Amino acid sequence: MHLKKIEKRLFGTNGVRGIAGTEMTPGLALKIGLALGTMRQGTIAVGRDTRTSGPALVSALKAGLLAAGCDVVDCGILPTPALQFLVRRHFDAGAVVTASHNPPEYNGIKVVEPDGTEMGDEESVALEKHIFEDTSRIVSWERTGRERSAPALVEEYVDAVVRAFPPCIGEGMPVVADPGCGAAAATTPEILNRLGCRVYSLNCQMDGTFPARPPEPSAQGLLPLADLVKTTGASFGVAHDGDADRAVFVDEKGHFIEENVEFGLIADHVCQGRKGVIVTPVSTSRIIEVIGKRNGCRVVYTPVGSIYVARTMISLAAQGIPVVFGGEGNGGLIFPGHQLCRDGGMTAATMVSLLAHKGESLSSLVNAMPHFALIKDKFREKDPQALVARLVDHYSGENLDLTDGIRINRGDSWALVRPSGTEPLVRVMVESESGERAEQFYKEIMSLIQR
Ligand code: MG
Repeated sequence: MHLKKIEKRLFGTNGVRGIAGTEMTPGLALKIGLALGTMRQGTIAVGRDTRTSGPALVSALKAGLLAAGCDVVDCGILPTPALQFLVRRHFDAGAVVTASHNPPEYNGIKVVEPDGTEMGDEESVALEKHIFEDTSRIVSWERTGRERSAPALVEEYVDAVVRAFPPCIGEGMPVVADPGCGAAAATTPEILNRLGCRVYSLNCQMDGTFPARPPEPSAQGLLPLADLVKTTGASFGVAHDGDADRAVFVDEKGHFIEENVEFGLIADHVCQGRKGVIVTPVSTSRIIEVIGKRNGCRVVYTPVGSIYVARTMISLAAQGIPVVFGGEGNGGLIFPGHQLCRDGGMTAATMVSLLAHKGESLSSLVNAMPHFALIKDKFREKDPQALVARLVDHYSGENLDLTDGIRINRGDSWALVRPSGTEPLVRVMVESESGERAEQFYKEIMSLIQR
């Protein structure tokens, strides 16, 4: 099955995103609220991450929803997966004001469907149509919605993550949590604590200026986390992006774990003894295929973007196919028994369970993983589609996957050339078992591109 991407005007891969005050304005948030309130009736949950522009945008979003006749429940500051969990359990839709991993000046809105998944392409296009054609409704005074505040609801999410594991599975395990001053400050230390871990917290003060490190949890920004892991003798350190749908790790030696390796490690734990399907975008390392095969699971590829992974998981499950795991090679992992969206808190908790089961250090588990050489590059291109078409023509005799851009599968190597979803950029990825073959393949593709 192949989900195809649909071109949108406001919505990118994960909702609407832009610089607060110029691109992402309260005016736009109001229009999104009105449009969502026109499309979805009932009670809508809203929440936000810690960004300083959040309160103004949430207020505007709520104004739109209320004026369109929806009731609103404001859940306050919480991770995106926490709101998604609450929507599926209690509400008719939801919206989170967040710019995820983007720098502090950005903000955005992710719209959540009743099943807790992010809004898909067709519905996003319908929502945009209401905005551009000014067809949203404003109800009469006696039908205006009512607002209620429910900041404690987030505890239901923490509870659900903790209850997914045996009691005190992390008993005495020292761990460091670094939410980076983002939304997970409200959840991840609490989750780890309730799993029995001895939790050290870093950057757990909520602060939308992100003074300690950028919301993107990169190896560079996590050096203080790595230091604290070493000085406390922790078993691992976990860090999140601004809205905590992603989690990344450093091992007990303070080494950053590449996110595809993280995906492989956790897939190996989750898939053990459970035959079925792992769903992931075409940009993910072959590590997942190797780990999948080891566990009797096969990999289904999707376009790049977590909504395509989630929607494919739903559609496969609806066909009766056992879907065991899903995720992206950026620390965004989906545990279908819990909920069908990326969940950073669940990922952190699963790492505790993994280490408790294996009884080995995280660094030795990482060393035992298959290793591939990966080259990533990007460049500006006026007509990315034409470039991809030219490559499809050139490589027509090879094993191609055209799910998103062009992926050329060649023995133990693959290369992906893919137009960016948001900018006039083309992204190139090449992976091979040997660094030399990766380099050769990369040069071959770049010389074709530059011709
Ligand atoms: Mg995020």
